[in-house]
Amino acid sequence: MRHLAMNIAGFPEIAARFALDFVLPQRCFSCDARVSEQTGLCAQCWSQVPFLEKPWCERLGIPFAYDVGEGAWSPQAITAPPVFNRLRAVAFYDGPARQMVHALKFSGRRDLARPMARWMVRSGSELLSKDSLVVPVPLHWLRLLSRRFNQAADLAREVARECGGQFEPQVLRRQKRTRRQVGLSARDRHRNVRSAFKVDSARADLVQGRHVVLIDDVLTTGSTVSACCKCLLSSGAASVDVLTFAQVDPASRTGKAT
Ligand SMILES: [Zn+2]
Repeated sequence: MRHLAMNIAGFPEIAARFALDFVLPQRCFSCDARVSEQTGLCAQCWSQVPFLEKPWCERLGIPFAYDVGEGAWSPQAITAPPVFNRLRAVAFYDGPARQMVHALKFSGRRDLARPMARWMVRSGSELLSKDSLVVPVPLHWLRLLSRRFNQAADLAREVARECGGQFEPQVLRRQKRTRRQVGLSARDRHRNVRSAFKVDSARADLVQGRHVVLIDDVLTTGSTVSACCKCLLSSGAASVDVLTFAQVDPASRTGKAT
């Protein structure tokens, strides 16, 4: 009897899922193959994602061609140490990983945030704990008005849900609209984002002494996250790590990573 009652209670949910699947069948957004659950990509397309795997640079999460031992730094991290403690990304910004970022950001596929965040939690497991303050890179309010959502906040919400951390989308504010960073010199990139961000004065207490994990969809030059990290550290954050879904291969960047 109890078993039957539970089945009946669960029926509306099953029926709703069936109806939703009928209206919006779950498909791999890259090759259109049908998938059993909302994972974004089918298994075959996931296998083509340029995942970043250990052994990697302890600071920048860039894979080494061969194992140089735990905790080793890449030449980029040695010559230009980043403001943040560690950076981790799921994949290089290429192939299906690039397509996913574009779909989330420009095609309004906000449903992709959950599967993407699950991969971020897997790649950033060393950075995340239930004590982490999970903060997205903010959009300027005008950009938010036109896009209607912040893709970094969608990812951060899901990352926090997965790791049990505290999601705080309002801690950082973008007070200046900035030009796209790609194609600018290192000096111009720094100038472009300088004073673009600030910690919201009403929420500054949240940052004090905390370990912050800064979330973005893609790291291109590193200037944006560096500017955010400086704000968080000067507001009293104990340490800042950066977790993104993708990062541009440093070998293909026009300047230095940080
Ligand atoms: Zn596929």
